[in-house]
Amino acid sequence: MAWSDQERIDSAARSLGTLGEIDFPLGSVTTYRVGGPAAICVKAETEQDLLKVVNVGKIFDLDILVFGRGSNLLISDQGFEGIAVVLSESFGEITINGHEVSVGGAVPLPVLARKTVSENLSGLEWMVGVPGSVGGAIRMNAGGHGSDTSRSLVTAQIMNMRSGTVHQRTAQQLNFSYRGSNVKQSEIVLSARFKCDSDLRGDGQVLLSEIVRWRRENQPGGQNAGSVFVNPENGTSGSLIEEAGLKGLRMGSAFVSPRHANFIQCEPGGSAEDVKALIDHVRSTVEKHSQIKLTSEIRFVGFGEGS
Ligand SMILES: Cc1cc2nc3c(=O)[nH]c(=O)nc-3n(C[C@H](O)[C@H](O)[C@H](O)COP(=O)(O)OP(=O)(O)OC[C@H]3O[C@@H](n4cnc5c(N)ncnc54)[C@H](O)[C@@H]3O)c2cc1C
Repeated sequence: MAWSDQERIDSAARSLGTLGEIDFPLGSVTTYRVGGPAAICVKAETEQDLLKVVNVGKIFDLDILVFGRGSNLLISDQGFEGIAVVLSESFGEITINGHEVSVGGAVPLPVLARKTVSENLSGLEWMVGVPGSVGGAIRMNAGGHGSDTSRSLVTAQIMNMRSGTVHQRTAQQLNFSYRGSNVKQSEIVLSARFKCDSDLRGDGQVLLSEIVRWRRENQPGGQNAGSVFVNPENGTSGSLIEEAGLKGLRMGSAFVSPRHANFIQCEPGGSAEDVKALIDHVRSTVEKHSQIKLTSEIRFVGFGEGS
């Protein structure tokens, strides 16, 4: 007799024991702060914990979702019917050796920016404005203020969450593109090495303050996941959305930011369905208006195939 989804989840939870938290409120740990629970969530302290997830995922045929600081994710209101995995603070070390900086996959980007600047290193200042983790930044090739992750990354240590094997990939092997890399949904970045330059003029602290000020002045606060769409080849998604007359448009609890049209915000207590519906509406309206099909930068979880 085939096992039901619930039986597989219950058995997986029993196998994970205290490592797995059942009905974990996944949506509320994302920066959108909407969306449902993960059936099981594991906060991994060690590689052994991750190997246990690999094993249990395989035995009970469950999907695995890796997440970091949830700043580029929209979780559906139904949530995620599998094992969500996040690296704990034990993957949060930063070790500096000359110009080389070794970091754990869980390190928050603003922490890395401030730490390197305090050591008179330059190249990672832009990270102060991006609320993600090192792992998320490598998968997304996060960037800003004229730079991105690929510019300073040397290598990343990656575990395959289907086989449990760990390997190292160089920046070239990561095949970085604009807001992308070849890190797959089934892989987790454990750690990375960056190469910085010397901050010879000591401008780092000034640059950090300028970036923080620019963000405050130009980006909305509240519940969002940063830019919703990647910029098309010529121009910006924000100006296409504005030209289509969508700035400020509201659908239920979601609205296009009146401050920055490429940000879609959600009200406290709102729903992921509203956010998703507005994203789809903006995409189709812009396509009708300018014949350009916008591509989402945000990763959708639990909305079904092709979302
Ligand atoms: C206010 C605001 C401003 C932002 N500004 C910018 C910006 O200027 N530039 C920019 O590029 N982005 C920006 N973002 C988006 C976001 O911060 C980045 O994409 C960030 O790199 C995502 O990291 P995360 O840890 O939050 O990843 P998550 O949102 O948790 O996950 C995003 C993706 O990365 C994967 N992932 C997460 N951790 C790992 C890991 N350890 N190993 C493998 N895969 C992993 C997930 O599976 C998912 O596919 C902004 C977001 C917000 C809310």
